[in-house]
Amino acid sequence: MRAVMQSAAMPQVPLWIDGRTQPASAQRFGEVFDPARGAAIRLTPLCEAQDVELAVSAAARAFPAWRDTPPLRRARILMRFRELLEADKEALARLVTEEHGKTLDDALGSVIRGIEVVEFAMGIPHLLKGEFAENVGGGVDCVSLRQPLGVCAGITPFNFPVMVPLWMFPVALACGNTFVLKPSEKVPSASLRMAELLHEAGLPPGVFNVLHGDRVVVDALLNHPLVKAVSFVGSTPVARHVYETGTRAGKRVQALGGAKNHAVVLPDADMEFTADALIGAAYGSAGERCMAISAVVAVGAAGDALIEKLKAKASAIRVGPGNAPGVGMGPVISAPHRARVAGYIDQGVKAGAEPVLDGRGLRVEGAEQGFFLGPTLFDRVRPEMAIYRDEIFGPLLVVLRAATLAEAIALVNANPYGNGTAIFTRDGAAARRFQNEIEVGMVGINVPIPVPMAFFSFGGWKASLFGDTHVHGPEGVRFYTRGKVVTTRWPESAAAAPGLDMPTLG
Ligand code: NAD
Repeated sequence: MRAVMQSAAMPQVPLWIDGRTQPASAQRFGEVFDPARGAAIRLTPLCEAQDVELAVSAAARAFPAWRDTPPLRRARILMRFRELLEADKEALARLVTEEHGKTLDDALGSVIRGIEVVEFAMGIPHLLKGEFAENVGGGVDCVSLRQPLGVCAGITPFNFPVMVPLWMFPVALACGNTFVLKPSEKVPSASLRMAELLHEAGLPPGVFNVLHGDRVVVDALLNHPLVKAVSFVGSTPVARHVYETGTRAGKRVQALGGAKNHAVVLPDADMEFTADALIGAAYGSAGERCMAISAVVAVGAAGDALIEKLKAKASAIRVGPGNAPGVGMGPVISAPHRARVAGYIDQGVKAGAEPVLDGRGLRVEGAEQGFFLGPTLFDRVRPEMAIYRDEIFGPLLVVLRAATLAEAIALVNANPYGNGTAIFTRDGAAARRFQNEIEVGMVGINVPIPVPMAFFSFGGWKASLFGDTHVHGPEGVRFYTRGKVVTTRWPESAAAAPGLDMPTLG
């Protein structure tokens, strides 16, 4: 992001520290765009280390009292927060559409998927229950429990301004941690709104804080001694940096990275159903989803039938501003990103892939300055081509051909990413083999975007996730807590003599 100077004409997004908005000490600012108009609408302060100090120390001060707040009380605050989110969900969706560009319906869907994580976290009194064993030794009992870590940080990407932060902080707060969120500088406003709603729900000051900025803030959080755990979602190079820097500084880190998600289509699949599913998965949110399908592997005769249908359906997508009625696909996030995706289309043509649909020439009437690209489809793409190898994160779908299911599985497994994948077939045995052999964290069977519900955990494999635990669901609770085992004896009389050997039951 280009750093710009402060301007009196442009509103600034504030920070949220210690239960109130605060101006940043920043001298550098990033521009937030309305991608449908191609116009800057507000400025994000790019915070410095002193802002990080303020937020982290507020969170550290708030930790002891929040940790000692009974889980049921914490859950009740989350219940109120859930009601406020529910009442505010359309306004939040409008904010997402304004700064990200996706359609209002899509934005609303993502807000609802985020609210579901709050609903999961409301069950925290049950989720935190430990184990107890009586008489592990003579007159000795043992209890295992999970306790919060302290100050946790979340660093989130531009493509889900509400949902991805909600993957993290409701679970972290429910477990008794305090939190510092650093949303993407491209979409800063929704995080502020959620901070206000948490405050209104009764969350004590300092328990939840929001900072803005770029690498400077992230690195300061990664190196701050009071930050105990970091959850990151974003691109693979940054995820790797966050994981390596955070773990070197002794922190617990989960860093979710980029993706290249494949759909394998067998010749026996219902092609109409499959094509509809793939259109949504490839072009929804202009392809800017970490679970978007960006590569189709068509097995045997599936290819020709599928290409015809995909071409017809993709050509029918109405592209325009996300808040306009009837629009199926909005703009991409920024002018440089539009140029990057268009550059990949150039490369695909030069590399000899067959362009079936080329979105570069699209003009949206009345929104000529918007960052629009039409749906793009390439056939007969080969694995060595850049349009297949790289995560492009735009409305670009590539189709590769494979002779057999085994060849298709080998191709998917050879890819460095392993976030999501799907198979389309009517053959249960083929689906079962795929589910068993595929090296990917989230698998759909006739389900194009298999995003786990909030009470399961979300996460990919290989270059799509660094760390051991996935987000939300049971693994989220594990990530934001650490285990303790207490062994107890209440002797009725003093022991006869000191024992120097390892105690055993004998
Ligand atoms: P990004 O990696 O550019 O930015 C993510 C966050 O990291 C932002 O908050 C940003 O400010 C910060 N950041 C950027 N560069 C940094 C640097 N050099 N050092 C430290 N921090 C830095 O990602 P993005 O463009 O905002 O989001 C798109 C990416 O996120 C795609 O790769 C997409 O696949 C991925 N993503 C993954 C998931 C998942 O669950 N695996 C979910 C959503 C998005």
